[in-house]
Amino acid sequence: MYDIIIIGMGPAGISAAIYLKRSNLKVLILEKSAPGGLLNTIDKIENYPGFSSITGPDLAYQMLLQIKENAIDYRIEEVIDIKNQDLKIITTTKNEYKTANIIIASGRVAKTLNLDQERTLIGRGISTCAICDGFFYKNKDIAIVGGGNSALQEALYLSKIVKNITILIRSSQLKAEDNLIQKVKQTSNINILYNSQITALKKENDKLAGIEINNKEILEVAGVFVYIGYNPNNNFVLSEVKRDNKGYLKVNNNYETNIKGIYAIGSAIDIAENQIVTACATGAIVALHIAKNNK
Ligand SMILES: Cc1cc2nc3c(=O)[nH]c(=O)nc-3n(C[C@H](O)[C@H](O)[C@H](O)COP(=O)(O)OP(=O)(O)OC[C@H]3O[C@@H](n4cnc5c(N)ncnc54)[C@H](O)[C@@H]3O)c2cc1C
Repeated sequence: MYDIIIIGMGPAGISAAIYLKRSNLKVLILEKSAPGGLLNTIDKIENYPGFSSITGPDLAYQMLLQIKENAIDYRIEEVIDIKNQDLKIITTTKNEYKTANIIIASGRVAKTLNLDQERTLIGRGISTCAICDGFFYKNKDIAIVGGGNSALQEALYLSKIVKNITILIRSSQLKAEDNLIQKVKQTSNINILYNSQITALKKENDKLAGIEINNKEILEVAGVFVYIGYNPNNNFVLSEVKRDNKGYLKVNNNYETNIKGIYAIGSAIDIAENQIVTACATGAIVALHIAKNNK
């Protein structure tokens, strides 16, 4: 039996696993998709110490190497249920596991536009991952929705692939770091439309053909990349675990939820600055706390 099972193998879960293993605890990580989590979708990272510039997939690979070097067990299985009995029982799509402690590091999922036809256009014009889908829009016109760091970072990446980018933001100003705003404003094929919202999607031959803006003009674009925020990814977590008003898991200073032995870290909680380094920090803190209490 494992002392602790971590759900999610992004930067938060990986950091926790490294500290737990080095504290001599028996640890398993369960990941439904790819080791590295969201890192696999990021073009360039320039604010993670130790790497002045690195692609997300390369950083994910470095983290995976460290997991292997430490001989930490991990399995690619999606967790679908957790039960809180004498021991905790985790059900995945393949197995059932018993453990004394669980760390939920399952991150969050991108919000969608909530428009008619959006669902059927995902992968056919609508995307939330520039690094995954950008190349399909080579030399085409696209739009990006959102004015935060992620939206601008991905606009800069896509500007080297596509023909023209229109950034649509609901408010009258961008909400990103100054240096990103400067770079975007200096990029000749990026245009920003303030106070603008997509009000309808135009579909032709099962693909996106254009977008209606503010119930008026139609902008002909082949793709729309959506970066308008996130929702917590915790449907599999038992309802007894308390959530905040945005639906994120509530934790105390040690990242423990209201259920003893169930912890939550990284972007599974409403972390103020959602960054790789802050996600890693929560993983280290929770692991050291658990290790201290298991001595
Ligand atoms: C476009 C973009 C650009 C970014 N750029 C930067 C940047 O330059 N610098 C920076 O510091 N941060 C950046 N970030 C933020 C950074 O990616 C996050 O802060 C970080 O990935 C959070 O780590 P995490 O481990 O909490 O969650 P995640 O990375 O989201 O990992 C969660 C993991 O849990 C897994 N999971 C979910 N549900 C289950 C389940 N039921 N069963 C098993 N596994 C499950 C997921 O598959 C995923 O692998 C960027 C984010 C985006 C979207």
